[in-house]
Amino acid sequence: SGEEAAAKAAAHLADTEPPTIFDKIVSKEIPANIIYEDDEALAFRDIQPQAPVHFLVIPKKRNGLTRLSKATPEHKALLGHLMWVAQHVAMKENLGDGFRVVVNDGPNGCQSVYHLHLHIMGGRQLTWPPG
Ligand code: IMP
Repeated sequence: SGEEAAAKAAAHLADTEPPTIFDKIVSKEIPANIIYEDDEALAFRDIQPQAPVHFLVIPKKRNGLTRLSKATPEHKALLGHLMWVAQHVAMKENLGDGFRVVVNDGPNGCQSVYHLHLHIMGGRQLTWPPG
């Protein structure tokens, strides 16, 4: 049935890791400098900015996306939406001269919060390659 299929999909996407601080930002339990919000995504300023403008874009529901490498075909639309939000907010933040989008994945990627997030950094000349 449709219900069974939905339950199976939910189980497939279920989180096996504990919630993170980002859930408390989504639920407004802890304050954040939120600069964009819609039904699916939230953008807020990073508390340890690495550039004059540095914000994060996250899915409101982690939905299994502890890290980018956990993505499944079911996540494709959400992943596209997060990229759209990244550029939309970057333009609102006057980053028309350019910016960088980064996703840190896992230990080698220096990921510290296991709730998928895009870093958007700009407002100065960035260098390449990153460390
Ligand atoms: P990661 O290393 O890619 O996982 O990045 C996590 C980012 O979240 C870091 O840049 C942190 O500075 C940022 N961060 C952690 N806690 C908070 C918070 O409470 N508010 C805003 N940013 C946070």
